[in-house]
Amino acid sequence: MDKIMPNRLDRGFLKYQDEFEMKALEVLRSGWYVLGKEVSAFEAEFANYIEADYCVGLASGLDALWIAFRVLGIGVGDEVIVQGNTYIASVMGITINGATPVFVEPDEFYNIDVSKIEEKITEKTKAILAVHLYGQASNMEPILELCKKYNLRLVEDCAQSHGSKYEGKATGTFGSIGCFSFYPSKNLGAFGDAGAIVTNDSELADKVRIFRNYGSEKRYYNMVVGTNSRLDEIQAGFLRIRLSHMEELEEEKRKIATRYLKEIDNPNIILPQIRYNVTHVWHQFVIRVRNRNALIEYLDEKKIGTIIHYPIPPHLSEAYEYLGLSKGSLPITEEYADTVLSIPLYNGMTEEEQTIVIEALNSWR
Ligand SMILES: *Cc1c(COP(=O)(O)O)cnc(C)c1O
Repeated sequence: MDKIMPNRLDRGFLKYQDEFEMKALEVLRSGWYVLGKEVSAFEAEFANYIEADYCVGLASGLDALWIAFRVLGIGVGDEVIVQGNTYIASVMGITINGATPVFVEPDEFYNIDVSKIEEKITEKTKAILAVHLYGQASNMEPILELCKKYNLRLVEDCAQSHGSKYEGKATGTFGSIGCFSFYPSKNLGAFGDAGAIVTNDSELADKVRIFRNYGSEKRYYNMVVGTNSRLDEIQAGFLRIRLSHMEELEEEKRKIATRYLKEIDNPNIILPQIRYNVTHVWHQFVIRVRNRNALIEYLDEKKIGTIIHYPIPPHLSEAYEYLGLSKGSLPITEEYADTVLSIPLYNGMTEEEQTIVIEALNSWR
């Protein structure tokens, strides 16, 4: 048997191979490759899926984040609150604009601990960036209340939470702007880089649409200094296919996660928890163990691959040394960084592969 990898993108391709191949040919033969019919159709379909009014396709999830803060006018001198245990791109989306990230510890669901936000709000705070990490929606109601009370913008990082809901409402639709990544390994993945923002604000949607194309709506009439963050036709075409199967893809992952939760039984392993009023779309199945290196080695011997999301929290990375945050400044974030481990869970994973993972974890001492 082949090694069981943490993710298998080829399986995701093989699932709908004919559709992807036909779409590739269709776009190649169309003679139109960037921002065209496929992109417009995908934007409409994705907005519909999320139940947002507008979607604007972009070149990556990071672009969605930094452009979101840019069009909201958040930059130098401003502070944005974000959880400490996020992927570093969330933080870069803030700092590319010159704004300062203010880190808050995560809760037991790996999302921002809402009870620790208020103490971090200052005169300079302009926004909260809610990251729905690993596929589970954050605790939105208290976040919305704080935004209202302190007149803060809410931006959502939904790079891992396509289709995840809080009390029946999709992540990405709670604040001013929802930011999505369609990087190949995400729950809705392209075959290259891609991203999008969603919003219910037509002015913000227009601003992003102009910004992504050198600040112009009409060719050669540049209204602002924008960027090039356009979405390719071929990627949008692939995304439309994947989106049309989203329910099935989501269900497949949920089934595997449910099985893991039921059958993984080892006192040394802390399983992920699900908040009662949200849906989890299982971008990652993240366990926690004290003796992580030993477990990684043990699984590796059994030909099971794992990944750590994420071993170095942003505040301790070299890139953010300038923030002056030392080890010990975010103890829960740091403990998670030392103990989290993502086990294999992907579309197209066989039951036999799942069984091997479960048995290996259960036999570890
Ligand atoms: C993947 C990811 C991003 C960045 O998306 P890219 O498309 O890789 O730029 C941002 N935030 C989170 C939480 C992510 O997982």
